[in-house]
This record gives sequence, structure tokens and C-alpha cells, in this order.
Amino acid sequence: MLSIDEARARVLAAVVPLGSEEVAIGTARGRVLAEDVAAAHDVPPFANSAMDGFAVRAADGLAERTIVGESRAGAPAREAVGPGEAVRISTGAVLPAGADAVIPLERVEERAGGDVAADGDAPHVGAAGGRIVPTGAVRAGDHLRGAGDDLRAGEVVLRAGTRLGAAALGVAIGAGRGTVRVALVPRVAIVVTGDELVPPGAPLGPGQIHDANSIALAALAAGDGADVVAVTHARDEAEATEAALAAALDDADVVLVSGGVSVGPHDHVRPALEDLGVVEDFWRVALRPGKPTWFGTRGPTLVFGLPGNPVSSLVTYVLFARPALAALQGAPAAQRASAILGEAVPRQEHRDEAVRVRFAEDGRVHATGPQASHVASSMLGAQALAIVPRGTGELAAGTRVAIEPL
Ligand code: AMP
Ligand code: MG
Repeated sequence: MLSIDEARARVLAAVVPLGSEEVAIGTARGRVLAEDVAAAHDVPPFANSAMDGFAVRAADGLAERTIVGESRAGAPAREAVGPGEAVRISTGAVLPAGADAVIPLERVEERAGGDVAADGDAPHVGAAGGRIVPTGAVRAGDHLRGAGDDLRAGEVVLRAGTRLGAAALGVAIGAGRGTVRVALVPRVAIVVTGDELVPPGAPLGPGQIHDANSIALAALAAGDGADVVAVTHARDEAEATEAALAAALDDADVVLVSGGVSVGPHDHVRPALEDLGVVEDFWRVALRPGKPTWFGTRGPTLVFGLPGNPVSSLVTYVLFARPALAALQGAPAAQRASAILGEAVPRQEHRDEAVRVRFAEDGRVHATGPQASHVASSMLGAQALAIVPRGTGELAAGTRVAIEPL
């Protein structure tokens, strides 16, 4: 039987990355960059103030300055700052010519003079013609943000393969982008099998259960940037299974099949896929839960036969289908991480176990509760899968294990 890593390597080897398209940046959230993004200009594009205050010449030292104008965000001053002069300035406003420092508002003393407010009260601080005196030393460069401090024109700031979240979108826009070239969205079709399944919320007849995987797998795929184009339910009959799979295969880049991949007399998925020209790559992985996992391809279309058990289907989706969806979009696989077990975990003799864990305050990972594959609630609150290598006895608390973030 293949190990988790061997099985995943075979999935990744079968991936043919999708093409790309140019989209408006406002619609690019969650998409994966298909190009590098370089700054179109210096960022920030001009030297500006980091504080509300006064743009001055540092060489004037502690001397009084006369206010000759104002530079507001989006409305630069027309006046230059000469010796003995200051320009009132807002955070983010262009540094006026002649100035080389900003004195924050709270580090000046105001002197009367200049424009008087309409009601005859004292002139407001910074009115043109008013005067200010610094209360402390002024050094060239104080409270300034230089042009290009963040990015130099031409500098690459985002690499192809980056998934665009809030931070990356903001940086791309700052770098001058209104559009970005991104990977096409993978089209995913889901086929759930099982005579026992009824839709969510439906009354349960004898032996029936609710179909959790249609919705859960669709949620996982959508979260990984896929467009779920179809979700169908097939009864445990050869023709029904084959018809559902045929339709799914015609419409999708990735087909996720839930259930029906074991060896029982009512498991029709593997023969149906074979009839439809899907070539088996592997069946069975030395993994608990998820041993019966099946993977094959038809041309560039990837087909995952995931065990029907909701825990197994989540675990095998995360370990095998998620990296495939990332690779289709040109994104690197999530970096493997590791963590320290907070408690001893019994080992499976022949299979690596994907233990659902969460991080505790001690910085270690703890199992979410009983780990049997039918205990769906073991997925609740899980932050990662801890991979406990097969072997005898137990893995002691304090052992470092590989984890797969969820
Ligand atoms: P199977 O892989 O078809 O042998 O199913 C394994 C177990 O998972 C059985 O107990 C099924 O009833 C259950 N199961 C199969 N499909 C689903 C589903 N879509 N939602 C919830 N449980 C399921
Ligand atoms: Mg079944």
C-alpha cells in the first residue's frame, strides 16, 4: 500500500495546471496569481508626511516659523518652504518643496497672527500667516515617508502562485494594479453514492442517514478556490453510478466521488470509472482513516474516490484533493509543518494515522476526542491533522510529528 506522501506525489504528478485569465482586481479575491506583480511606480509614489503637523527646514533649528500654506492629503501646497517658513501638512500629504522634516502638531507652540476665525476668536493653529515654534530638536527626515520606502518602481512584490487574500490584494493595488492575471478556477463535480442517504433535514426512514458529504465536500472545494459545478447523488446500482459519473466527468476538471470505493457487493464506483475510461492510478493508502481512497485520471481530469465516512472523506480530501486543487491553480502545496504531541497517541501497526488535533495553550497539539472514523464530531474544532507514523505501542507525549494545517 502507498504511504500518504507516495500517494500525494502520484496525484501531483498527474496534475496539468489550468490556463489563466486577466480579471479586475476587485473580483480576484481567493484567486491564484499566474504572473509576478511588480510595482508600476515607487510606493509610496511621493515623499509625504507620517504625521499631522508642519513641514519645515531642519536647518532653521528651534527658530520660529511663519506658516505660508497648507498641504493636505490629495491637495499639495502650491507654496515652497523657504528659510523661516512652515507649511501646515496632513498625514499622507505631499512634502512641499524646500521642506526636509515634519514637526508633529503636538510638538509646536502656536503664536498669534494670521487669519482670525470668523467669530473673532483666537486664530487656529496653523492658519496661514500664523507662527509656530518647535518645542524640541528638529532633524532632517523627521516624520517623513520617502518615495519608494515601501517598494521601488519595478520591484517584484508578489510572485506567481500567490493566493490573493486581503493583504496581497491591497499590496497589488498599491503597486498600481487594476487587473491581475490569475489561474482559471478549477471546475469540481461531486458525486455522492449510497442508498442510505437522504437530503439534509429530511425525515429518516429505517437505515437511512443524512447526506453530509455533498455539502461538506462542496464547502471544502469552494474554500480551495474551486467552482462546484454539480453535486449529484447516485444510488448503489451500477447503471445509476455510471450515469452520474459520466455526467460529472464531462463537466469538470476534478471529480470528487464520495463512498462506494470499498470491496462490498454494492460498491460500484471503481468498475463504473473503469468503464468510463478513467485510468486507475492508485487504490488504497496506508492511512487511517481513509484506506480505500482511490485516484485515477481521464486525460487531464482528476478523479478522487473518497471513502464515504464523513471523517475519512474530509481527511482524504485534505491530504490528496486539496493539494491537487492548489497545483491546478499553480499554487505551491501548503508547506509541511510540525508540532509536538501534548499526549501519548496509540500507533496503528500498518497505517499512518491522521489524528484531528487542536493547539492548546501549552503550545502542543491535543486530539479532539475519540478518533474512530465514524465519530464525525472529532472534526469539530480541529486545526490540523497530526500524522502519527505507523508502528507498535504508542507515540509518547512530547514527540514531534508532521502536521497538515486544516
Ligand atoms: P462507503 O464508503 O460507501 O462504504 O460508506 C462508508 C460509511 O460512510 C457508511 O457508514 C456510510 O453510510 C457513510 N456515508 C457514505 N456516504 C455518506 C455521506 N454522503 N454522508 C454521510 N455519511 C456517508
Ligand atoms: Mg456506500
